[in-house]
Amino acid sequence: MPVATADQYAEMLDRAVGGRFAFPAVNVTSSQTLNGVLRGLVDAGSDGIVQVTVGGAKYLGGGDALAGARALAAMARELAAPLDVLVAVHTDHAPPDSVDGFLRPLLADSGRRRANGEGPLFNSHMFDGSTLPLEENLGRSSELLDIAAAAGVVLEVEVGVVGGEEDGVRGPDGDRERLYTTTPDLLRTAEVLGTGERGRFLLAATFGNVHGVYAPGHVELRPGILDDGQAALASVRPGARFAYVFHGSSGSPADDVRAAIAAGVVKVNLDTDAQYAFTRAVAGHMLANFDGVLKVDGGIGRKADYDPRSWGAKAEAALAAHVAGAARLFGSAGRSLLRS
Ligand SMILES: [Zn+2]
Repeated sequence: MPVATADQYAEMLDRAVGGRFAFPAVNVTSSQTLNGVLRGLVDAGSDGIVQVTVGGAKYLGGGDALAGARALAAMARELAAPLDVLVAVHTDHAPPDSVDGFLRPLLADSGRRRANGEGPLFNSHMFDGSTLPLEENLGRSSELLDIAAAAGVVLEVEVGVVGGEEDGVRGPDGDRERLYTTTPDLLRTAEVLGTGERGRFLLAATFGNVHGVYAPGHVELRPGILDDGQAALASVRPGARFAYVFHGSSGSPADDVRAAIAAGVVKVNLDTDAQYAFTRAVAGHMLANFDGVLKVDGGIGRKADYDPRSWGAKAEAALAAHVAGAARLFGSAGRSLLRS
């Protein structure tokens, strides 16, 4: 089955909202990482999301982020076609200065595809306006929501600020309270963007999340903030629920992850821990085979050891195992739309 259609992605998200589970959304930067993620999803029988940041797309595209994003979407379409799980493609964390050169052209691609009766190029895009004042963030998000909805694309927005750093985008250092979205901000988001009637959106609401991995005690997650938001929303719009996104899940205790999913998280981003799983396997190969990957003391090394496929296959297998484990924790394992 190819990449999810707009209707299939909507059904994936509906099932996650209703079934209280979440999809792994894994950052990729290459064909190796893409293949590792796809294999992990298949092994777990889980649908899922592959995503690139603007920086990841730039790397993938040899310096051209737009070309890299388009190449990833095309590659995912080819490689996912024979699989028996559904894969959605997403771009993550586009800051305001990437909207014109990155988000709008990709949305225009999807608009053209839709006019030709095809599915969108990307199933969803994140606009990260968290550095802007709330009203400006929501105003820009609102404009992008209209464009996305017309192209059959879901928009992800961020309200509150994720701490730490990802791809050069840094959260706040000093003011820890800014890491926690407030209920009034969540309600204001629903007031401006609606709850689906104008177009579907995913909400990266922050509850203490920080990108990256830190020593225990550095990060204090409060998933109750997400529950409070759902309760407040239900009181003004009966039956409505936010579809939350969990950024900065790496290093989080499993109980916090489960609590966040129970509170309505449907997409959990995996980056730092997945990067480590991949690179740890490469490091293991290099250290165990140093005299094969290096020409030591006038030796000639061993082609079988320095062929990029030998260490690449190990890295992909390690990434796949990490993704499959995440799918089991998030409850998406064994629940692919295509196997039900
Ligand atoms: Zn993030």
